[in-house]
Amino acid sequence: MNIHEYQAKELLAKYGVAVPKGIPAMSVDEAVKAAKDLQAGGTSLFVVKAQIHAGGRGAGHFTDNPSGKGGVRLCKTPDEVRAAAEAMLGKVLVTKQTGPEGKEVQRLYVTDGVDIEKEYYASVLLDRATSRVTFMVSTEGGMDIEEVAEKTPEKIIKVSVDPAAGFSGFHARRLAFALGLSGAQVKSATKFFGALYKAFLQLDASIVEINPMILVGDEVMALDAKMNFDSNALYRQPDVFAMRDESEEDENEKLAADNELSYVSLDGNIGCMVNGAGLAMATMDIIKLEGGEPANFLDVGGGATKERVTTAFKIILSDPNVKGILVNIFGGIMKCDVIAEGVVAAAKEVKLSVPLVVRLEGTNVDKGKEIMASSGLPIISADDLGDAAKKVVQATKQAQAA
Ligand code: GDP
Ligand code: MG
Repeated sequence: MNIHEYQAKELLAKYGVAVPKGIPAMSVDEAVKAAKDLQAGGTSLFVVKAQIHAGGRGAGHFTDNPSGKGGVRLCKTPDEVRAAAEAMLGKVLVTKQTGPEGKEVQRLYVTDGVDIEKEYYASVLLDRATSRVTFMVSTEGGMDIEEVAEKTPEKIIKVSVDPAAGFSGFHARRLAFALGLSGAQVKSATKFFGALYKAFLQLDASIVEINPMILVGDEVMALDAKMNFDSNALYRQPDVFAMRDESEEDENEKLAADNELSYVSLDGNIGCMVNGAGLAMATMDIIKLEGGEPANFLDVGGGATKERVTTAFKIILSDPNVKGILVNIFGGIMKCDVIAEGVVAAAKEVKLSVPLVVRLEGTNVDKGKEIMASSGLPIISADDLGDAAKKVVQATKQAQAA
């Protein structure tokens, strides 16, 4: 699960991470009021920041003014804050991370504009290769870190933490020295990194990314913050869960989560409905092997009901890119006839208009095949996984060309 920058900073600040002062705003008036409140506290430079679940906002553009400013704007007066808020709220912001369709801005964050000495990059994540919580830092802050990793990988320094010993001053100093910090800066950085580590662990984060981390005088601060959380731990993180912004989430992924389906949308045109994560992966692989591209990963799980299969089917079909569907079910706990009934009911309900290839195997497979054959629907039956993949790739190509 993702949260907004202002929410991440609010959480991090509780752990002792230094962040510039800021106030979230849902309307233009709220943004102006936020600026005035900050002004009363001594602020003379404001930053209006679009809150969307994507980075690269500063370098992005709004669809109604492609050559205009992006989603991070410095303002000198509350009047300028008003103009910036008007130019952003309700508008669609396109960044490197949103995809070309962009995201509508519904929330703003008005912050104290700080004088930046230098920008750095810092993140905490779980490194699967070492199975350890790992810090990644770089002197190349404020930039696209993927680009730094590709062009100048030596400028990214990693420090991993032994879970038994935990984070200590030694780790903090290694990170600080790698960034060329000295004296009082090291002391501030030590507090900063320690607080990031604690927040990462206690909040069940999967990543905390500070880009840029900045120096203001000798103090290290988070100018931007991104946090992502392990969805499986949300049951014990009510404060984090309360920060969920459903309007930022993919409609289908939301519907899937509500129905206990594992669904991830992808860029291809072959919709997949499979039971079991391993079989779902294998199905995607074999589709690619046959020259096709999967439109999604969808695991209906072991104990799916007819209703869940119907929902799964609707989710797949609501993706306009889907030009063919492959249902690949191994009926073990789940019986083939139940799947078949669900598929037939859903196909009738949504008036199926793309080719559907079904491969069933396992408990009650004959009954399942019979239900499909007598449904009157143009279902293409397949005997094994290879056969199914070949058939769906071919049928999808024909449907796409038509
Ligand atoms: P992103 O573009 O979505 O990553 O948003 P950031 O919060 O990282 O802001 C982008 C850039 O705007 C930063 O790298 C800074 O260069 C600049 N910026 C943001 N806030 C301030 C600020 O308070 N003062 C100054 N001088 N620049 C800022
Ligand atoms: Mg940033």
